[in-house]
Parts: sequence; structure tokens; C-alpha cells
Amino acid sequence: MFSAVRRPLTRSFTSRPVTAFTGAVGNTPLIYLKGLSEQTGSTILGKAEFQNPGGSVKDRAALGLVVDAERKGLLNPGGVVVEGTAGNTGIGLAHVCRSRGYRCVIFMPNTQSQEKIDLLRMLGAEVYPVPAVAYDDPKNYNHQARDFAKDTPNSIWTDQFDNTANANAHYETTGPEIWEQTQGKVDGFVCATGTGGTLAGAGKFLHEKSQRKTQIWLADPPGSVLTSYVTSGGKLIERAGSSITEGIGQGRITNNLGTFVNQLSGAFTVPDEQSIEMLYRMLDTEGLYLGASSALNVAAAVELAGKLGKGSTVVTVLCDGAYRYQSRLFSRKWLESKGLNGAIPEELQKYIVL
Ligand code: PMP
Repeated sequence: MFSAVRRPLTRSFTSRPVTAFTGAVGNTPLIYLKGLSEQTGSTILGKAEFQNPGGSVKDRAALGLVVDAERKGLLNPGGVVVEGTAGNTGIGLAHVCRSRGYRCVIFMPNTQSQEKIDLLRMLGAEVYPVPAVAYDDPKNYNHQARDFAKDTPNSIWTDQFDNTANANAHYETTGPEIWEQTQGKVDGFVCATGTGGTLAGAGKFLHEKSQRKTQIWLADPPGSVLTSYVTSGGKLIERAGSSITEGIGQGRITNNLGTFVNQLSGAFTVPDEQSIEMLYRMLDTEGLYLGASSALNVAAAVELAGKLGKGSTVVTVLCDGAYRYQSRLFSRKWLESKGLNGAIPEELQKYIVL
């Protein structure tokens, strides 16, 4: 059996205090998802990344990017950290910058919720909402972040998509934690990708440790090109469509995903209907209040358990909680506008309270 299953009710903390915000990042519990494990005959485990101090898996990347820049001498006391982000990375960076004395400047598409802008500003970040234009437009939020850093002395652009300090943070922390928490018994690891940092970083570590016995799978939302890239053997096919999930899906092979994309055992797309049903089911049966990317990951873990067979152990990532999205995910009107009301079974409709 797993340490995750045998854990005491309280988290075990180290006896010494940790250093500031940054010492509290990582070492998240691996949660045994009882209902789904019993249903599938496999062991399905979710890495509780919502327990990071900034509330998401991106705290690891934010810390990794800043520490890497410090080590390389690119970021000095009183320096400026600039990033283009629509959410969790910016929130993680804002926390890290406050705790280490840096100025934090965030460029984000002006389509993002006021809650996120407010939160970033409350965390001391300067936020520049800019028109939501495509990546190949020079006014895209990422390019504006890069240009701002170029023009600002003592500043860095952390470049979360293509700076591999991101995946490295997961190689150094997420992967080893999963290996230790499963005592090396992990047959499959699956998660969705935004920058690719989590999948490639943790996946590479698990591959190396297991001598490639652990299968690494990618899960994709509708509208992303990655599933077709993997299943077509490397063709970038334009994909139409969109998803209610936020922070995942990708139109290109980022540096963080890099050549690891060729090591994947497979990929599949999870429809929004399946993700939203899982989101409500996880709340109902496990008491977990998850964001939509986490729900998609759990749905993908169930699929992968089906492929690997009874008795297998599958690990996925619970990226963040529903708190940042609740005005949408628990609103009847919003669900209706996305055509998703029918995806939520009668007995779970009681959770739609907004
Ligand atoms: N889920 C959420 C909610 C996210 O914000 C992100 C990052 N954009 C991811 C999943 C994907 O993580 P990664 O960037 O490591 O691929």
C-alpha cells in the first residue's frame, strides 16, 4: 500500500521553520482518489498542487525561474521580474517577488477576469492589461513583457514557455516527490500542458528513475494541437475549437515540452463535458474543490487506468482549486452559455448554486 493511503490525518511538517513563502512551495500530498480507484480497480493518485502557498502548481515554476536567474547573476537585489501570463504563473511570481524584494511586472490579455487583476495588484504586482492578440502579433502580451524587460535596467523576462528552468523545477521537485510518495510504483503519469513544464519535468524524472517503465501520457483540452501532434507522429495540425479549461492547451511545441514530446506513450483529448462532470463528481465523492484543468487531468487518469489495466497505479496533477473560477464553474447561466448544463448529472445539479 502507499504512504499516501497510510498518511496520518495531519500533514507531517519538518521540525524546523521554512524560509518565507519560498520554503513552503512543494512537498504537496499525494491524494488517493478512493471512489475512482475502487471503480477502476487501479490506484489513482492526485498530486495536491492546490496546496502550494500561491494556490497552484505554478508556484514551483515561478520559484524555479527566479532562483535560476539569481544563480546565473541575471537578477540582482532590487531587480525587476517581468512576465506575460494570464494567471497562475503571475500569481506565483508576485508572491516570490514580494518575499524576495523584487518588483513584479505582469502583462496579461485584457480578457482576463477582474478578480485575477485585483489579486495580482493586492500581491504588489504592476499589471498591464493589453489587447488579446495572437502570438505572431508584436502586441501579444508575451512580446510586450519581453520588450519591457529589454528596456528596463536590472530586469529579467522569465519567459515561462521557453525558459527550461520551468521544467527543471518539476524535474527537481515534482518528479522526485511522486517517486518517493509511490515508493517507485508508478505505472502511468498523465497531465495536461500549458507551458509543458509539469509534464516534461516530472515525466523525464519518472522515466529516468523507472528506466522508462513508467508511461507518460499527455491529456489535452479541445482546441489544442498537441494530441494530434503526438498521434500523427509529429505533424502540427491546426485545430479549431475551444475549451472551458484555463491555463492548458497549446498551439506549438514550447522549449519546455521540447524533445520530451517524442518520449510520450500517447495523448488524448478530453471533451469539456467529461471534465466538468468530473469536477462536480470530485466535489461530491472526494470533497475536492478543483479547477477545470485538474478535473480534466483526473478524467484522463481514469482513461489511462483503463489502458494500463486493473492493479495499475496512475498519478495525475491537481493543478489548482476552483476558487479562482467559481463565478463561472458554479453558475447555471455560465454553464448554459457553454452548453454544458446537460453534462452534469441530475444528482450533482445541487452544487450549481450561483
Ligand atoms: N493548470 C493550470 C490551472 C495552469 O494555470 C497551468 C499553467 N498555465 C497548467 C495547468 C499547466 O502547467 P504547465 O505550464 O506546467 O504545463
